Amino acid sequence: MIPPGETIGILGGGQLGRMIAMAAAQLGYRCHTYAPEPDSIAADVCGAFTCANWDDAEAMASFAADCAVVTYEFENVPVAPLAGIAPVPVLAHPRALEVAQDRLAEKVFVSGLGGRPAPFAKVDNDADLAAAIARIGTPGILKTRRDGYDGKGQWRIMQPGDVDGLDLPTTPLIYEGFVDFRAEFSVLLCRGQDGDIRFWDTPENVHKGGILSTSTVPGSALVQGEVAEARALAAKVAEALDYVGVLTLEFFATEDGPVFNEMAPRVHNSGHWTIEGAITSQFENHVRAICGLPLGDTSLAARGVVMNNLIGDDAHDWAQILSDPANHLHLYGKAAARPGRKMGHVTRLILE
Ligand code: AMP
Repeated sequence: MIPPGETIGILGGGQLGRMIAMAAAQLGYRCHTYAPEPDSIAADVCGAFTCANWDDAEAMASFAADCAVVTYEFENVPVAPLAGIAPVPVLAHPRALEVAQDRLAEKVFVSGLGGRPAPFAKVDNDADLAAAIARIGTPGILKTRRDGYDGKGQWRIMQPGDVDGLDLPTTPLIYEGFVDFRAEFSVLLCRGQDGDIRFWDTPENVHKGGILSTSTVPGSALVQGEVAEARALAAKVAEALDYVGVLTLEFFATEDGPVFNEMAPRVHNSGHWTIEGAITSQFENHVRAICGLPLGDTSLAARGVVMNNLIGDDAHDWAQILSDPANHLHLYGKAAARPGRKMGHVTRLILE
């Protein structure tokens, strides 16, 4: 057990790290952020900040020397430099990062555990792309295998001719059949070091332009009917990776059951509602898990919860949002709003 008072290292400097650090502070831990960008909103609430590139071995070693355990809030942290953190534990184990960083590896791994993704094919060149479209058909989505997030690095292919004018990167891609889904949802779980697994209620998620817009708990009857199968798969993934901490799996709800979309080996935007909407939040349970403490109750703390992301530079009337007693406003402290940038969220509890 890592007792309160020790230092938790967080790789990545965004809002997820910020909210992990706030939960850690409540339990008496100190946090140290490591991120390449100087304007880290996680560092704003942490006791220490190392601003260095991921491959700066000296900076990584001195960061590790200050930490009792290291976690990450960003799944595209390169895995190789993490060797420099040993003997300090990195949780969740970097094997989870390796799987989740590559959309192809992730789908192969989850299929091996009995999960059902959309039909997919590896695309390394034009011939692969033509073969993928011939086998899987259209519509489909071409995605970068690595470094994609919030709908970036994706191209919708409605008919085979659509690929002609595309300015595609030379990095490896994956082609996926388009899933005719009725809804989207995510399974959020936390696994402790003793193997204890707790699930939060399942949010139904609405994306706009590939970016999460709203999470609602409880989800529709269709989603609720698919939760058991999706949870069973998520538990298998967590066990296969000897996972410690919060793990998120995203699914499409279809007429034929849940179709796996992707996994995130970290706390997740679709779990932000748990800060006020669950007895124990995803951030607190993540801290408890990586520190070897017992996990907290994940039950719903209201009749329902709706989380809305505040995205881009839309004008908001903070006073008006806060004048509704059911609303909780979270702003991440980002200086510059850009289209598609997550600036904060509002959680609304439904109490009666
Ligand atoms: P991703 O980054 O892969 O999670 O994609 C972002 C969003 O794009 C998803 O949440 C879906 O709304 C949509 N999307 C991604 N892949 C597919 C697919 N194969 N079929 C239908 N919609 C998809």
